[in-house]
Amino acid sequence: KRPAQLQRAFVQTGHGDARQTIRVMQWNVLAQALGEGMDSFVQCPMDALNWAERKYLILQEILTYRPDIICLQEVDHYFDMFQPILASLGYQSSFCPKPWSPCLDVENNNGPDGCALFFNPKRFQLLNTTHLRLSAMMLKTNQVAIIAALRCQATGRAFCVTVTHLKARSGWEVLRSAQGLDLLRNLRSVAHRIKTEEKADTNVPLIVCGDFNAEPSEDVYRNFATSSLGLDSAYKLLSTDGKTEPPYTTWKIRPSGESCHTLDYVWYSHRAFDVNAVLDLPTVEQIGPNRLPSYNYPSDHLSLVCDFSFKDPTLVSK
Ligand code: NDP
Ligand code: CA
Repeated sequence: KRPAQLQRAFVQTGHGDARQTIRVMQWNVLAQALGEGMDSFVQCPMDALNWAERKYLILQEILTYRPDIICLQEVDHYFDMFQPILASLGYQSSFCPKPWSPCLDVENNNGPDGCALFFNPKRFQLLNTTHLRLSAMMLKTNQVAIIAALRCQATGRAFCVTVTHLKARSGWEVLRSAQGLDLLRNLRSVAHRIKTEEKADTNVPLIVCGDFNAEPSEDVYRNFATSSLGLDSAYKLLSTDGKTEPPYTTWKIRPSGESCHTLDYVWYSHRAFDVNAVLDLPTVEQIGPNRLPSYNYPSDHLSLVCDFSFKDPTLVSK
């Protein structure tokens, strides 16, 4: 019998207009083919990875928080699960598969994994979708991103939301950094295009969700934190000094040992958005001695959920 879902509470981090909150979820859901066929989570019973049951835990995690925007990585059941189920719940979506997904090397795979982006069309009008294959040193890589330009129906304001999943593993820090620079370049160009089309006089605000596969000490993190786009990382607001990322966003045990890292981020334009609340991470005790995934949590990465609201535009510097 499965234990109960991990109980997590929202921590209030600001006092923006709660009526116009935009709830955003960032989550690497763990590709079914990788979880069963590649990852070797040695403390996780194979039973707990059975798709017929695991898919309900993934849906439960999403529906518990009912985000207005959902950014997912490692989606290898888009067409037969995420898209149809979330469409029936009112979400519009886009899927960008990895060109050479490692899922394809797993026997009985369900197709490539990739990034997926879902949003509530009652709240947002889709202005444009861009699918990117990230480049590094002029070469195309195996990593992708989706940039969606949306207009908030209530406020009329346009903004861009992005989902990405950078190259994994240690030894690939330089490639990740180059992928990050390519994404920043593309964000600048899409944001500029939307600003022109919208005849806006302020820059188009951005939200960038990703499994960056990089600790905060890596160049790619620093490049995002210091870029001219004015991005800040929402989960730092959970820390007492407001400057420190959480101690973990992924925690698993492989044959090589335990791996506990902060790799997942929600970046936002700090000039344009307030962060009203952030979903706290589960404690070490809640995660349990066998870490993730487990019978009560379906992925090795934790979901990140943030409530944003637009700052008063008359107070935003141009
Ligand atoms: P990445 O290195 O980015 O990793 C791919 C996935 O593996 C990620 O989802 C990652 O999860 C997961 N992963 C990370 N560490 C481990 C680990 N120690 N054990 C198991 N899984 C792990 O992969 P690429 O996209 O660069 O693709 C690499 C693979 O893709 C190759 O091994 C090959 O199989 C295939 N490939 C095939 C090509 C071809 O020509 N046929 C070309 C390119 C790739 P997370 O992000 O959660 O850490
Ligand atoms: Ca993974």
